[in-house]
Amino acid sequence: MLEVPYPEINYLLEMMGEAGRRLSEIGACEGAAGNISICLRWPVEPQTRFPLVSELVLPQSVPELAGATFLVSGSGRRLREIINNPTANVGCIVVDPDGSTGKLYTAYDHSFERVTSEFNSHLAVHYDQIIASGTNFHAIIHAQPLHLTYLSQVPRYQDEHYLNTHLLRWQPETIINLPEGLGFIPFRIPSSPQLMEGNVQALRNHRIVVWAKHGVMARSDVSVKHAADLVEYAETAAKYEYLNLSVGEIGEGLSVDDVRGICQTFKIKQSIF
Ligand SMILES: [Zn+2]
Repeated sequence: MLEVPYPEINYLLEMMGEAGRRLSEIGACEGAAGNISICLRWPVEPQTRFPLVSELVLPQSVPELAGATFLVSGSGRRLREIINNPTANVGCIVVDPDGSTGKLYTAYDHSFERVTSEFNSHLAVHYDQIIASGTNFHAIIHAQPLHLTYLSQVPRYQDEHYLNTHLLRWQPETIINLPEGLGFIPFRIPSSPQLMEGNVQALRNHRIVVWAKHGVMARSDVSVKHAADLVEYAETAAKYEYLNLSVGEIGEGLSVDDVRGICQTFKIKQSIF
């Protein structure tokens, strides 16, 4: 939830750009992989930055989000390029009063036809989270961090408890930033209704979910860079785990008592350790 004065579109585009650049730096969005969206529920004037307008049927009806604005990365666009040319890579959707259609605003330099093909998942999770919490701001990132995605290919890491007890043991920050741990969805076809439904369910109880053999989706009602931080914390944990596997598992990791002590000191509620 953000307080007034609300951030301007230009600032939010810059933050999306910085998130995209960081995700690229950590190897989480090769080529045109990954996508970003944010939802704003205060009135926005899109046409200063996005003068072109077209009609859009939304992937699902979201009547409670009538008038809400989404900034969404374009299909096939590179997240690392948002920072240098935001309007070439990002579109702006404003939901119509009936909630089932919207206006897609784009700039003259936009280099995409549609918004990301994962927008069905983005919209469904934004909707579910906003209805539940009433927040006026919500950010979602899908990225493909290498080590985390690799571990999702290994059967024993496909068990959520195993995944979390092994990844959240390497740094004190991990449990503090991800007290619910990582959610896990078995492999689903990209853009499918099954992936969308899995995201909605998993992100009710987690801030980040691993998509088996594909990547992750993270959410934040604080900032888009916070969502990127969550991807980075999870990927760093996976890097430690990968490193440990590669040297014959000689690392100790934090003990259960260590993690519980951290949680007690920082007043973190968790049920993993
Ligand atoms: Zn992907």
